[in-house]
Amino acid sequence: MSAVPGLSPSEQLLTGLTRLGQAVRLTAWHNAGPANLTPLQADIVLFLAGDRRPRRQTEIVTALASTPPTVSDAVRALVGKGLAERSRDPADSRAVALTLTDAGQAEADRLAVVPAPLRAALDALDGEGVAAMLRGVATMIEVLQRHQAIPVSRTCVTCRFYRPNAHPDDLDRPHHCMFVDAAFGDGELRIDCPDHQAATPAAG
Ligand code: SF4
Repeated sequence: MSAVPGLSPSEQLLTGLTRLGQAVRLTAWHNAGPANLTPLQADIVLFLAGDRRPRRQTEIVTALASTPPTVSDAVRALVGKGLAERSRDPADSRAVALTLTDAGQAEADRLAVVPAPLRAALDALDGEGVAAMLRGVATMIEVLQRHQAIPVSRTCVTCRFYRPNAHPDDLDRPHHCMFVDAAFGDGELRIDCPDHQAATPAAG
């Protein structure tokens, strides 16, 4: 019996992930909206909304794999549009920290609404499908982070509170989060968790 022709399964998966990435962009996830946001400005708004603590500009540069001048320009624009505000960092009075204004939070809420085509695609997956994809995505993110190929992500698999397979007899919820002291399954793996703390400095 001859092999199925074409790319290998893992290469097919990579092609599929590329298509999905295109779909996320094309369905205007980062749509400009009334504030005429650029994609980077939208990314910064979502980053600041993901953790309401004041964030330094250097954190944004690292998280979004951008450069200080590029982020500086985007932040200046966001402040000018009344979506973000600067303040003294409580942890270091010489540093400047950023937070969203109420208008910025409203923009974040708007950006967080999943466009209808993407919602339909997500709804096509059952719980098992979501869990399998979350497991695969989290694993790939962890490896890519180790190779410094992508910005750090606040995912369970790089978190110091994560205990994988701590409950091997519980097929539905084999993992444990020490932060909330609760068992959970692959379907609840976090890709971006506000309570994440890096397991190692390199893990972000
Ligand atoms: S704190 Fe968040 S990222 Fe860390 S293990 Fe718990 S759920 Fe996962």
